[in-house]
Amino acid sequence: MHSSHDFEQILAPPFPFTSQSGFIFSESNTIEMSSQEHCGFIGLIGRPNVGKSTLLNKLIGQDLSITTPKPQTTRNRLIGIRTQGASQMVFIDTPGIHESNLPLNRKMIDYAVKTLEETDLNLWLVEPLKPHLIEPHPDDKKILDLIRNSNNKTILVINKMDLADRARVLRTIDVFSQNGSFAEIIPLSALKSTNLESLLEQLEQYLPEHPFFFESDQLTDASERFLVAELVREQIFRKLQQELPYSTAVQVERFEEDPNCLRIDCLVCVERESQKGILIGKGGTMLKQIGTAAREKIEKLLGQRVFLALHVKVVKQWTRKTHHLQALGYH
Ligand code: GDP
Ligand code: MG
Repeated sequence: MHSSHDFEQILAPPFPFTSQSGFIFSESNTIEMSSQEHCGFIGLIGRPNVGKSTLLNKLIGQDLSITTPKPQTTRNRLIGIRTQGASQMVFIDTPGIHESNLPLNRKMIDYAVKTLEETDLNLWLVEPLKPHLIEPHPDDKKILDLIRNSNNKTILVINKMDLADRARVLRTIDVFSQNGSFAEIIPLSALKSTNLESLLEQLEQYLPEHPFFFESDQLTDASERFLVAELVREQIFRKLQQELPYSTAVQVERFEEDPNCLRIDCLVCVERESQKGILIGKGGTMLKQIGTAAREKIEKLLGQRVFLALHVKVVKQWTRKTHHLQALGYH
């Protein structure tokens, strides 16, 4: 995933000179390490709905990745960058890993599994075990296998500790540590921001020494268009019930600066005529609600006034047809 940076360039500042030992000396002859920057890719993996996107947003301090109470809302790779002092953490949010045969889901899962190998370190999120359970969920057992066969270190995060008492959290730690070996195990609550500091302290220790991959003020590599389409999709998940959101894809068709505001047109694809009706709602009320809520979040993200128009189109069975998946951006 990362290109190897050229250390020579960084080691060739105008004044200090390189000694034979490989350290560089400043003019005052104090010894400095050759490169003090630490930077690495950190994968966020886990079953759907465990709080991966919530944690990513908290760690970078911006609502970049959409989060909803419904499982499987994250479809694409999204990175969030946190730079502090001499360390840069590049978090990769992934779709949840779970059993499924649907083409769209398979693509998402393959992507998540691939991420596991391309990172420097992985954070595996699980929830506290329900009191009656004595072993991990079958999908978590699959993830355990993946981790066992991976060359990467994994930190186990027990998220949503706000929902469980101490005994349950301890029992969860017990069960998981009997089944796998982890660099660290950290209970926290992404939603309540509890214990995030200890996670960050641990991450700091595992970051490889490497020059930054991104500018220190950059938060993501995703385009504004992508983030906008995601914010529209988030509202569709929040406002509509059942399976409809899972059959929805959003594409930005127009993104233009006007003298007064930013004009954005989005195409919302659904699979059936009946879904189109539900999405639009009586007299267009549903689509209006979705549009208003999305526009507010888009304005907050981009820091400017936005005119947002949503258009709905039926693309039959797009979640099952590979060419539609590609056309809609799921590569
Ligand atoms: P993802 O599918 O793993 O990305 O999960 P999301 O980040 O979308 O979160 C799924 C749901 O769990 C959302 O409703 C979140 O608000 C909720 N959630 C995430 N973290 C926590 C937490 O620490 N405590 C509680 N109580 N809920 C959480
Ligand atoms: Mg997510």
